Amino acid sequence: MSRLLVVEDDQQIGTLLESALRANGHTVSWERAGTTALDLLDKQPFDLVLLDLGLPDVDGVQVCREIRLRQPDCVLVMLTARRDEMDVVVGLEAGADDYLTKPFGLTELLARVRAHLRRASGTSGVTAPSFESGDLRIDPSTRRCKVKGTEVALRAKEFDLLARLAAEPGRAVSRESLMADVWDENWFGSTKTLDVHMASLRRRLSDAAAAQDPPAHLPVITTLRGHGYRLEMPTAG
Ligand code: CA
Repeated sequence: MSRLLVVEDDQQIGTLLESALRANGHTVSWERAGTTALDLLDKQPFDLVLLDLGLPDVDGVQVCREIRLRQPDCVLVMLTARRDEMDVVVGLEAGADDYLTKPFGLTELLARVRAHLRRASGTSGVTAPSFESGDLRIDPSTRRCKVKGTEVALRAKEFDLLARLAAEPGRAVSRESLMADVWDENWFGSTKTLDVHMASLRRRLSDAAAAQDPPAHLPVITTLRGHGYRLEMPTAG
């Protein structure tokens, strides 16, 4: 049984989510404000948090950041009514794994929750052998990524993306298959989630490479315009 936290100030939406998720066999806590949600997250672990970005007391993006600090491993899905796409990007950069734009269909939300929990529990999702290329080492069984022996802290989805690309080094991997394998086979809507996670993954890898002296030699993630990505070793030089 999964422990879910709904953070939503809208009475109607909150009631709907709470009862639908309970009916699906989850343990559900519902908080109506950011501060009380963070207090609860200090006290008990959750598998997944559904977070409304438009809260009365604290900025939703700030709450994302705080949730990530408190519980790095829980799945964080933002609910946003805002039309401003910047909020979604900033929220994803602040630590959210995924988002849904209101109004969303309950069926879609439940499917998304189910897919996230299935992946998080490790019964499905990305499984790949360990991978070594240049100074990079990825071990999916321990979910560790190391550069010259120094561990690189990656978020869950960033690790999954890297492991997925590393499972087929040198080969083109389409955006569709990345989204299906790392998020959900029924994943649809904007591809912003993938773009933001990929940008963040690249940034963390290049920071980790630059932190070594001399700089580490890492495979690069090449963008294949209109198709997807490819992980490859740059030619030495
Ligand atoms: Ca709200």
